[in-house]
Amino acid sequence: MKTKIMQKLGMSWLILLFLSLPALAQRDTLVQVSTIDALLGGLYDGSMSIGELCRHGDFGIGTFDKLNGEMLVVEGTVYRVRSDGGVDIVADSETTPFAAVTFFDAELQKQIPAGTDYQSFKQWLDNLLPSPNLFYAVRIEGRFRFMKTRSVPPQHKPYPALAEVARHQPEFAFEDVAGVIVGYRSPAFVKGIGVPGYHLHFLTRDRLAGGHILGFTVDRARVTVDQTADLLLRLPETSGFSGMDLGKDRSTELKQVEQEHR
Ligand code: ZN
Repeated sequence: MKTKIMQKLGMSWLILLFLSLPALAQRDTLVQVSTIDALLGGLYDGSMSIGELCRHGDFGIGTFDKLNGEMLVVEGTVYRVRSDGGVDIVADSETTPFAAVTFFDAELQKQIPAGTDYQSFKQWLDNLLPSPNLFYAVRIEGRFRFMKTRSVPPQHKPYPALAEVARHQPEFAFEDVAGVIVGYRSPAFVKGIGVPGYHLHFLTRDRLAGGHILGFTVDRARVTVDQTADLLLRLPETSGFSGMDLGKDRSTELKQVEQEHR
């Protein structure tokens, strides 16, 4: 009798181990919905529900159906920074046309020198990372002397290109503000699929404001990094995506979109 129970237990442990193997592998996978070039070209129709997105990660950034605001996924909660500057917690039933999530496991941690701005932060962190050719989920928590962000308003069909939308983007400036930065540092070769280099979003500690980061100066903050070597790309199986011309080089448009409106 005893041996039978032992055997049964042994078997269930084996099954449990077998079932959890894919789940363990997935934790270190960066899951991305659609491509940056499709978004730049105006593909703003959501193709994955927020509920499904959350099954692929508890950390990330993106946008929403119709390009309705900037997305942050912080510890499994999905936030939208609206174009009026306010913040919503987003329902599972909403959808995203572009997002990248992963399960965040802290690997490298380091205090950022006070006074570091966005440009010098990029060089500073690049020097600490083992290779420019892997993906890194980047999380910064702390206080900032200065923070500049933007958001985008929901669009109507026929959708204008993202560079056109960004020309009229509402921008927000904060002084002496505490909060969290969520985003990625991606390899240069990701061009066309994702954003090469840094792509970061900000959310205030009180979760009432934030946006896509245009600039900042650190007061006292700590960066945590999760290295990722696996990328899973979920392309939209929609007529909108299938019919798009995605052969064009949109790197100049991406630069326009990433920077401040002038
Ligand atoms: Zn962004």
